[in-house]
Amino acid sequence: MKNELSTCVLGSSSAGNSTIIWNAGTAILIDCGFSPAYIASQLRRLGLRISDLKGVFITHVHGDHVHESTVRRLIQERVPIFCPPQIEPHLQKKYSALARASHQGLLKVIKKSEVELSEFHIRPFEVPHDSDGGCFGYSISYDAEGRTKKVSVTTDMAYPTKSVVGHIADSDVIVIESNYDVEMLEESTRPVWLKRRIREEGHLSNDQCGESLLQIIDRSQTLPKSLALAHVSQECNTNELALECTKAALDRHGIHGISVFETHPDRPGRTITV
Ligand SMILES: [Zn+2]
Repeated sequence: MKNELSTCVLGSSSAGNSTIIWNAGTAILIDCGFSPAYIASQLRRLGLRISDLKGVFITHVHGDHVHESTVRRLIQERVPIFCPPQIEPHLQKKYSALARASHQGLLKVIKKSEVELSEFHIRPFEVPHDSDGGCFGYSISYDAEGRTKKVSVTTDMAYPTKSVVGHIADSDVIVIESNYDVEMLEESTRPVWLKRRIREEGHLSNDQCGESLLQIIDRSQTLPKSLALAHVSQECNTNELALECTKAALDRHGIHGISVFETHPDRPGRTITV
């Protein structure tokens, strides 16, 4: 349909992250942490090709968000890759394919507060997740049917700041991490330093995901329609626990009518259309 805006998390975990947002005329990816074969086959399922992408937006330098051979494929197809200036030198240093994209004018540094691609306004916002040069979420807005439709994606956050909450507020669709269950993390065999890193500057627990959503809803004029819980740890969490925790947080505050969806490490989640 002409004015519909769709979102699909193609896959999300510490092994790979990529989300597609598209309408009838424009398609973009947030991150490209999967092989070109996987991304191409998932796009084909949606009736799209890699060459249809108007841009790929990188959140941060960690290896589960950038797949070098996918970057090479994007270069071949002349698809531009966008990133905030703070992470650009780190991306070029870590990924030779991105250095090559830069030489070919295909690595675009976002110099203003937002990028306009056809009908999409794409706005990066910084999140505290620890990564060289920083880490960013993205909000995508699209004016349709006399109102603005908005999707926000933040698969790595650590904790919500006032600014993050403000950027995500009034989204129709929110893709947010619900990384770990506190007890499962404590009981895991992970080293103490890693547990601390995950808790303090890495990721949101299920409880923190629920709390962050409540803060976002509190700042919003309208309720989000759908939530997708992403980056669910395979070792220290389950989709069932993540869903249960966020639904319970919304219920406790008398918030109803929001669909909450799971995502998967190795297959796409549900396509959410608003
Ligand atoms: Zn990360």
